Amino acid sequence: MKIVIQPARPEQRRDRPAGDKLVFGKNFSDHMFLMDYRENGGWRDPRVVPYDNLTMDPAAMVLHYGQGIFEGLKAYRWADGRIHLFRPEKNVERFNRSARRMCLPEVDPNLHLEAIEALVRIDAEWVPRSAGSSLYIRPTMIATEAALGVRPAHECLFYIITGPVGAYYPEGFNPVRIYVSDEYVRTVRGGLGEAKTMANYAASLYAQEIAKKKGFTQVLWLDAVERRYVEEVGTMNIFFRIDDELVTPPLTGSILPGITRDSVIQLAGHWGIKVTERLISIDEVMETIETGAMKEIFGAGTAAVISPVGSLFFKEKTYKVQDGGVGEWSRRLFDEITGIQYGEKEDPFGWVREVKP
Ligand SMILES: *Cc1c(COP(=O)(O)O)cnc(C)c1O
Repeated sequence: MKIVIQPARPEQRRDRPAGDKLVFGKNFSDHMFLMDYRENGGWRDPRVVPYDNLTMDPAAMVLHYGQGIFEGLKAYRWADGRIHLFRPEKNVERFNRSARRMCLPEVDPNLHLEAIEALVRIDAEWVPRSAGSSLYIRPTMIATEAALGVRPAHECLFYIITGPVGAYYPEGFNPVRIYVSDEYVRTVRGGLGEAKTMANYAASLYAQEIAKKKGFTQVLWLDAVERRYVEEVGTMNIFFRIDDELVTPPLTGSILPGITRDSVIQLAGHWGIKVTERLISIDEVMETIETGAMKEIFGAGTAAVISPVGSLFFKEKTYKVQDGGVGEWSRRLFDEITGIQYGEKEDPFGWVREVKP
């Protein structure tokens, strides 16, 4: 299928914010990608069009039953002006895994990649130049069939929007204070946790608000059955450096298989660090902090890349990780991954992919 491109007319172009005024998720570029699906007929009409409102029936199934998925990746401008994506094949693949779990149709991976590239190419001027900034890309699929009744929709829409975002740490690498939620859970094994689907974020809001009111940045999620094993932190995967070993929870079904998580595991292994995927209980975490064996804790995800955890608050007690500062491995992983993304460091795994002009 060929992607039809309808460029925005001058009056349809949007105001582009200054490089130092980029707020995450607030500004969107001039164009979007759309493609429609019908059960008998499959995907049709892939197109890049001016960014605009979507119209849909108030009975559109996504609005009632939450049948929708998304992805998040970024395009980075290198010092030489060229634009690169970071492991986009992984996002495209995960999108289809999420689609299967949510009974949505899969998208041809090559067409999906082509759509991302067509969009980045036409809005190349929207890929910011300021340090640490990027163009955030949000592929989304929603059930658009107008029908009430719980069953998979026969019609849906796949769309991609993009928007410039600033450096995650404009004032430098900043450790966060984390609230451990032992009352509310994000997901459960056998549930939707491993899919990037809308419901997971709805499920997280309440505990996130409690944490925020108490002055914490993010929630650390425990498993839903025993409230004992650590799962994720906010919308990031979590890593523990215990002495000289890196530990992260295994992908048991309730954890989102992060691409940054995978990059951290591969890089650390490449450096000769022992990486173990295993269950880790909150009691072990607290104990290890108290004995001093816990050297670092950090979150990993596309938005922040690496987010160092300064302290954990659990059952009315604060546990400070070492001196509450940024750990050596957190810093090294952040520098290495962002270095690869911006073309400042060697790319031994072939992770970057140029968007040719
Ligand atoms: C997107 C996401 C992550 C991080 O995935 P990346 O591919 O590294 O961006 C982790 N946890 C949750 C719940 C997520 O939604």
